[in-house]
Amino acid sequence: MATINIIFSDMLKIPASDVATYQRGILEYVFGSIYYKDTSKITEANKWTIELRHTSESDLAVFKALTTEKLNQGIPHGITITTDKRVICFIPSGAGDLRIRESLQVIYHELAHMLLYLYYKNKRAARRNPDKNARAGSEGAFLTTEVHDRVFEKKMRNVEFYIDTVRNGKIKTTKFVSRGLDITDITDSRTVDRVPE
Ligand SMILES: [Zn+2]
Repeated sequence: MATINIIFSDMLKIPASDVATYQRGILEYVFGSIYYKDTSKITEANKWTIELRHTSESDLAVFKALTTEKLNQGIPHGITITTDKRVICFIPSGAGDLRIRESLQVIYHELAHMLLYLYYKNKRAARRNPDKNARAGSEGAFLTTEVHDRVFEKKMRNVEFYIDTVRNGKIKTTKFVSRGLDITDITDSRTVDRVPE
């Protein structure tokens, strides 16, 4: 079965163990937001490619052409291109849980845009809060306005998953806790599976 494609740029210097953590985090955020029996949404999600690139790469013309926003070099940021089913995140090189948590938060932000595209492709909505040059009350694509409103409102959740590491021939399982935008009330939580009344 085709699964979501996660690509790491050669420019990005990340230890293999951290690469595995990024992969787990991405899969947890995406599939933890979709009801597990909703195979059509799972199939749609699996058609997407998530590209993790080094922050310096956002200066390349090919990526500049994809966005109207001014991208900040050095600070993690991303672009979601719905027409290509592509999410591109620019993150710094480096190792360690703190770095992973910071970068995952940016990655989850873009994944939230992606997920809302799966559920609300054409929905329009009025902003509850100001967003850059747009004032509260102005209209935009729901997949953008809702994500940015939730950033403004600090609607976050813990994104938790488990990682196995091998030390001295023994497998050690540790819990990794990261933070991401909470959109599970407007997608489908996979824990919802009611017994008929
Ligand atoms: Zn955004």
